[in-house]
Amino acid sequence: MSNFWDKQIDRADELAAEPSGSKELLAFYAQLLRAQQQIYESLRSRRDWLPSGDLEIDLPAVPSTGLFESVALHGPASLAEEARELLAAEPGVIAAKLVEYWRNPTDTQFFAKSVLQPYTRWLAETTTTPSGRELAGGERTCPFCGGRPQLSFLQSKEGGAESGNRDLLCASCLASWEFRRVVCANCGEEQPAKLGYFQSPEFDHIRIEACDSCRHYLKGIDLTRLGFAVPLVDEIYGAPLDLWAREHGYTKIELNLVGF
Ligand SMILES: [Zn+2]
Ligand SMILES: [Zn+2]
Repeated sequence: MSNFWDKQIDRADELAAEPSGSKELLAFYAQLLRAQQQIYESLRSRRDWLPSGDLEIDLPAVPSTGLFESVALHGPASLAEEARELLAAEPGVIAAKLVEYWRNPTDTQFFAKSVLQPYTRWLAETTTTPSGRELAGGERTCPFCGGRPQLSFLQSKEGGAESGNRDLLCASCLASWEFRRVVCANCGEEQPAKLGYFQSPEFDHIRIEACDSCRHYLKGIDLTRLGFAVPLVDEIYGAPLDLWAREHGYTKIELNLVGF
């Protein structure tokens, strides 16, 4: 049942082979996904074990060395350097970083976020309630784990509106939840005049969804326009749009794993 990871990896490989401004980011992300898949497989194939949902208890089952090695090998210079430091660090240092992130997730903790995505996804798949963390909650965070939205996507659902339903994808467990279409995913603003959509001809199926009330944004992937797009990966493919949003003074709700 590692279809999810295979799908992300295949799409990242495919897009990384195309000439684009995101080529290098995608090549790195493809390797990172492989390392995350290995963490996931290690958790899934562990004998006679199911996660408790409390990271402090489950931590010995979560392997992180492989991911650090991969980033040391394939990552951009600053991350590769940090990965080498982590490989040389005492296990307690890494455990403390992971537990800290678990209690209080932030998109600036690249390594903790990368290592714990497959763990939190495994919790979601085994319907194991995450514990040992107090997240804000509310409709703009993941109903399963309390994570923030990484992106939104539109897809046609059976019996749904022809123009597609909007879902948000969780940055922590990578599950998605339904969300209203014309609402800021950060502050809940609903006035259409405050919500802006920006596209570039280069990316027909990706747009910036920005809010002028809170000045935050995320990217939307339109699967009704490109059905074989894979939201998590295509979101990275659209990195040039993030540069545009930053230049216009918008802050992303949650940075992706390649820092955009
Ligand atoms: Zn989640
Ligand atoms: Zn807003």
